[in-house]
Amino acid sequence: MSILVVGSVALDIVETPFARREEALGGAASYFSTAASLYSQVNLVAVVGSDFPREHLEFWRSRPINLSGLQIQPGETFRWVARYHMDMNARDTLDTRLGVYAGFHPVIPVEYLESSLLFLANIQPELQMEVLEQVPNARLTVLDTMELWIMTARPMLTEVIKKVDVLLMSEEEIRQYTNQASILVGVRQLLAMGLKYVIVKQGSYGALLFGADGTYFSAPSYPLEEVIDPTGAGDAFAGGLLGYLSTVQPSSDRGYAIEDIKCGVVHGNIIGSFVCEDFSIDRLRGLMMTDVATRYETLVDCSHFDPHWRYRTKVAVS
Ligand code: AMP
Repeated sequence: MSILVVGSVALDIVETPFARREEALGGAASYFSTAASLYSQVNLVAVVGSDFPREHLEFWRSRPINLSGLQIQPGETFRWVARYHMDMNARDTLDTRLGVYAGFHPVIPVEYLESSLLFLANIQPELQMEVLEQVPNARLTVLDTMELWIMTARPMLTEVIKKVDVLLMSEEEIRQYTNQASILVGVRQLLAMGLKYVIVKQGSYGALLFGADGTYFSAPSYPLEEVIDPTGAGDAFAGGLLGYLSTVQPSSDRGYAIEDIKCGVVHGNIIGSFVCEDFSIDRLRGLMMTDVATRYETLVDCSHFDPHWRYRTKVAVS
């Protein structure tokens, strides 16, 4: 099963308290495509400027990533500049330059139309809507966004949310969008918009899965001793989630078994953890499925506990 993604392809400047990287390959679709291509074929829809280094295209060509929906336009590639705090769950965006994204309209190549899974990665909501309208038959549609679009493009973002199956948001974004202090109340409000699932990304603390069917699942994060750069962890999370789902059979025409969705969330956490171990997509370049499997076993070990314990009142012995 192939996966279609639309989102940003960028050149980032990232500064952490310990290091700095310039002109790093970034963008939500870059992280997602590289991560998901570990599992299945990815069909990329994005735009880059004439300044985009050719070596990145060569790398993607060496993976199962179809680039026929990647436009190369005269002008500048999307640029993003960010600085992380000592607590690397927090960062400040210092600059965002849309460059060629300002006049971009996604065109979906015919060969992409059979993609069964659709990921609307972080990008202007109107572009996400244009893709959604061109690919109406995807089996599962997943949406990501960020504060900028919640603040500047809320009405269009709302229309997109109403049309997708799964929404990924950080705790902070849920508060910003719903205006609710309680994540549970915010999630309920989002599910009432017609979503099947809301996945709450909690940075280094893992992820929560909420279903319209009442599902609640908490997936632990993989404990990392050293975080080099958390940029793209959310997009790589989505790559692990959809990558995993692309390898399993849906249980019905439109749905996946809840156990598969949960397992996808665990894969998301694992792939997200790898991305944090280096700048840009660098840790994903040589990543093997055996590396993923080792972390999977660790997470199973550290999150299992005795399901049989029961409280029993003491019986008085006379
Ligand atoms: P994440 O750390 O998962 O939020 O993803 C960070 C990536 O998103 C960076 O590589 C940026 O290039 C990209 N990005 C940052 N701001 C935006 C934006 N407004 N629209 C699209 N992509 C963005």
